[in-house]
Amino acid sequence: MTTTQLQPMPDDWRRALAVVAHPDDLEYGCSAAIAAWTDEGREVVYVLATRGEAGIDTIEPERCGPLREREQRASAAVVGVSEVEFLDHEDGVVEYGTALRRDIAAAIRRHRPELVITLNHRDTWGGVAWNTPDHVAVGRATLDAAGDAGNRWIFPELVEQGLDPWDGVRWVAVAGSSTPTHAVDATPGMERAVASLLEHRSYIEVLTSEDPETYVRGFLAQHAERTGERFGDRPAVAFELFSR
Ligand SMILES: [Zn+2]
Repeated sequence: MTTTQLQPMPDDWRRALAVVAHPDDLEYGCSAAIAAWTDEGREVVYVLATRGEAGIDTIEPERCGPLREREQRASAAVVGVSEVEFLDHEDGVVEYGTALRRDIAAAIRRHRPELVITLNHRDTWGGVAWNTPDHVAVGRATLDAAGDAGNRWIFPELVEQGLDPWDGVRWVAVAGSSTPTHAVDATPGMERAVASLLEHRSYIEVLTSEDPETYVRGFLAQHAERTGERFGDRPAVAFELFSR
């Protein structure tokens, strides 16, 4: 059986905007690529739809939101990302719709990225592994908002707020897709990816009884190696690339 090799990600861009639902969505697999990009002098900004306040059973949302926000900012800093924004949608019940598209389109207009990154917007992770509704809503809204951002007649109130259209998004790269097309070598960024995911300590501690570093290292390495089977046997981070 021949497997199709993943293509290298385009590299003729300067600014990326990553839009995901929760703290840790980028760190679970994607941040080795982010570290490599910021090393090359590219700018990456994170936008999170929620603060992940409903993510930990034993911590009530009012305490959990600020805690996970702090962990997310620390986690971003490890891979060279200094700007992290929160859109304040409600964790667990994010609704796909024009309010979400408007908020993401506004972020795209503020930051003017050429590359937009998001997380799997499909119903499953492949097979019967069901995705969560927040990922589906935010992923779809991000793919849609890449177009909305460029059209002055969609959300005209944004223009009134001084956010002119930005039609410069050339690609939306979806991480965690079961049908990836492109990849980034994970080797140079892997140590920082481990450190970055480890910053989500309060989440990881309730997730596993393993030593946090052993768990994180094992998870990320295994994932990158499996992806690398389709990328010249180099550990890799995969994306499904939608060109615009
Ligand atoms: Zn998530």
